[in-house]
Amino acid sequence: MNKKKIAVLGSTGSVGRQALEVIRKEKDMCVTALTANTNRALLERQITEFSPKVACLASAGEDFDVGATHVYGGADGLIRAVETDADVVFVAVTGFCGLRAVLHALELGKRVALANKEALVAGGALVTKAAENGEIIPVDSEHSALWQALGFCKKGYKRLILTASGGPFLHAEMCEMRHFLAKDALRHPNWNMGEKITVDCATMLNKGFEVIEAHHLFGAPLSKIDVVVHPQSIIHSMVEFEDNSVMAEMSYPSMEQPVRLALTYPERRPSALPPLDFAALGRLEFLPLDRAKFPCFDIAVGSLRLGDNYPCAMNAASEVAVRAFLDGKIAFTDIAEVISDVVGKTERLPLSLASLEHTDERARVLATAITDKISRTTV
Ligand code: MG
Repeated sequence: MNKKKIAVLGSTGSVGRQALEVIRKEKDMCVTALTANTNRALLERQITEFSPKVACLASAGEDFDVGATHVYGGADGLIRAVETDADVVFVAVTGFCGLRAVLHALELGKRVALANKEALVAGGALVTKAAENGEIIPVDSEHSALWQALGFCKKGYKRLILTASGGPFLHAEMCEMRHFLAKDALRHPNWNMGEKITVDCATMLNKGFEVIEAHHLFGAPLSKIDVVVHPQSIIHSMVEFEDNSVMAEMSYPSMEQPVRLALTYPERRPSALPPLDFAALGRLEFLPLDRAKFPCFDIAVGSLRLGDNYPCAMNAASEVAVRAFLDGKIAFTDIAEVISDVVGKTERLPLSLASLEHTDERARVLATAITDKISRTTV
């Protein structure tokens, strides 16, 4: 049997583990490469189970072997993983570090199943240009939903409507927001995900990221992208057509469906998710997004309006700010302040991988200085 060959980048994270879960069940798939950031123990177990040709542990200082698999130490190993003979490069790494690998995979003409939203947010037009050689399959649930509602196409819509669960603070009062702690922000009502994205859901920065993603993936101007809060997360997103007819994609909230589809596309195959029980669901609600309470949304979208390297600076600042919040150094509402401050102090540079790497580095230094200052003044 000719097996479909998959490289899983970020295999020890939440989405990467789900990709391996699908590959484990689908007998006509195999793994050519696995990469992890720091979780050596899990990576070694995965290597033993899937026997990839190569692997990479970004945090390791030097190379090592696990059985017949060579494991590259350092982040450059991501490139080695992309260069295996994979049919699909499943990119589930977190953060800006995914950009170089995504660009390289697309330049090699690969199909990229993209769960790393930062690559698209920071890389923007660089990534869409590279995608002219390869192909991007969206894994983010909202974008997978739009792609499905469009019949596996990326055009033909009048309006793209992203749904947002509203996160854990949907019904909180504005005056309470400052006092929320990491443990509150990490309590997402519907989705079980990594720490960074869970906090980004609580601030709604994630929805701003997703507007930027939709803009690049579907070539949609901002005037054709809307967001509606839908607390049940049953509708993952909707497409409105010229005649005002709307197609919604629905299932219980789980990343399993978009992850599976990205790997089995163009086929749909049975999933472990139960069928929707509409009578038990009772009702689906829709609310406007409270942009005053969640300023991160407009900060993210504003960085796209500024263009060039600004979304990259915004992304880098968000990674530093969220880490500082999780570490108890800054308040929940300081996250928006830090990001906005960094974007305001960013110098415009034309888009290139080098300018983005420079922007990312500089924005992190700036954001760290700002979070350190805040944490000193509050202690
Ligand atoms: Mg999403």
